[in-house]
Amino acid sequence: MASIAVIRALRRRMSSTSSISPSRSISTLVLGEFEGGRIKPSCLSAVEAAKSLGKDNSISMLLAGSGSSLREAAAMAASLHPSVSEVLVADSDMFAHPLAEPWAKLIHLAQQKGSYSHVIASSGSFGKNIFPRAAALLDVSPITDVVEISDSHLFVRPIYAGNALSTVRYTGAGPCMLTIRSTSFPASTIIDDSKSNEAPISQVDLSTFNEESVGKSRFVKLASQATERPDLGNARVVVTGGRALKTAENFKMIEKLAEKLGAAVGATRAAVDAGYVPNDLQVGQTGKIVAPELYMAFGVSGAIQHLAGMKDSKVIVAVNKDADAPIFQVADYGLVGDLFEVIPELLEKLPEKK
Ligand SMILES: Cc1cc2nc3c(=O)[nH]c(=O)nc-3n(C[C@H](O)[C@H](O)[C@H](O)COP(=O)(O)OP(=O)(O)OC[C@H]3O[C@@H](n4cnc5c(N)ncnc54)[C@H](O)[C@@H]3O)c2cc1C
Repeated sequence: MASIAVIRALRRRMSSTSSISPSRSISTLVLGEFEGGRIKPSCLSAVEAAKSLGKDNSISMLLAGSGSSLREAAAMAASLHPSVSEVLVADSDMFAHPLAEPWAKLIHLAQQKGSYSHVIASSGSFGKNIFPRAAALLDVSPITDVVEISDSHLFVRPIYAGNALSTVRYTGAGPCMLTIRSTSFPASTIIDDSKSNEAPISQVDLSTFNEESVGKSRFVKLASQATERPDLGNARVVVTGGRALKTAENFKMIEKLAEKLGAAVGATRAAVDAGYVPNDLQVGQTGKIVAPELYMAFGVSGAIQHLAGMKDSKVIVAVNKDADAPIFQVADYGLVGDLFEVIPELLEKLPEKK
C-alpha cells in the first residue's frame, strides 16, 4: 500500500528543562464514558494508554451520571480491566447529560482530592468537549490527539492533518492532561463478567457542587437516529460515500451496502455539507478518526483532510471513476469505475446478512 509521507518532526531532547521528575509516582484519572449502562470501548483504549505511562501507575476511572444506568456502568467499570484500581462515581442529576461545564468542575474537584499526575480522555467529542474547560480550571495545557506514549511525559501527536508527527514533552507543573486517539491504543477485550479483579467503587463527595457548578449551558434535547449499525468509531468495516453520490436518496445505496456487510456508514465532509447524511458520520480531520479492518470508499477523492481520518485502516478499498484520484495512493485495492454501476452489482452479488 502506498503510504502518505510521514515526517517525524520536532524530536527534541528536553529532559533537562522538564520540571517533573520522571521518577515521580504516576497516578492517572481516566474519564469514563458510558451509554445505556455500558462503558464505551474508547474508555478501554484510554486505560490502555494510561498503562503505557509507566509500570506502577494507579488508574482511577471517573464516571458521572445518575440512576441505574450509572450504577450498571460503575459495576462494569470495576471489572473492566485489571489495571483499573478504583472507580469514582459522581451521582447527580447535574451529570444526567454530558455537559462540559459541570464535568470540567468535577474533574477539577477530583484532581484536587486525588492529585493525579495524569488525566486522560479519548479524543472523541465527549473528551474534546470537556477537556479544554477542565484544563483551564486546572491551569494546564492539555496535549491532544496523542498517538504514542514514549514515557510518562513524552508524547507523539499528529500535526498538519496527520502529515507530520510531532514529539512533545510535557514540562508543566500541574497534572499532565492528554486526549488519546483510541485507534492508536487498541483495547484488549472487555473483561466485563470476570469478578476476579473487581476495583472498589467510591462516591465523589459533591457537597461543594451547587447550581453555579452547572454553568450557563442547559441540555435541551438529544436528536439521534436509532440504528442497529455498529458505532463508526469502533466498527470492523466502514463503508463511506462521498460527494459523488449526488443526493441523500442515492446515499441510501451506501447504507444498504453497509447493512449487508454489517458495517458502519461514513461520509466525507462534502457529502455531509451537501446534506446527504448527518455530520456525526463524517470521517476525517474534523470528523471521526477510524481504523477499521476494512474501509471502503465510494466516490471519495481522498483529500488530505479525509485521509487524516482513515489512512490507518488495515485494508482500504476505493472505487472512483478518476484513475488519478488521490485516494488510490493509499488504497490497497482500487477500482476505476462508476459507483452507480459498481454498488448495485455488489448489492446483487453479496449474500444477505444472516
Ligand atoms: C480545515 C478543513 C477540514 C476538513 N475536514 C474534512 C474532514 O474531516 N473530512 C472530509 O472528508 N473532508 C474534510 N475537508 C474537506 C476536504 O478538503 C474535501 O473537500 C472533501 O473531503 C471532499 O469530499 P469528496 O471526496 O466527497 O468530494 P470531491 O473532492 O468532490 O470528490 C468526489 C470524487 O468522486 C469521484 N466521482 C464522481 N462521480 C463518480 C462516480 N459516478 N463514480 C465513482 N466516482 C465518482 C470524483 O472523481 C472525485 O474524486 C476539510 C477541509 C478543510 C479545509
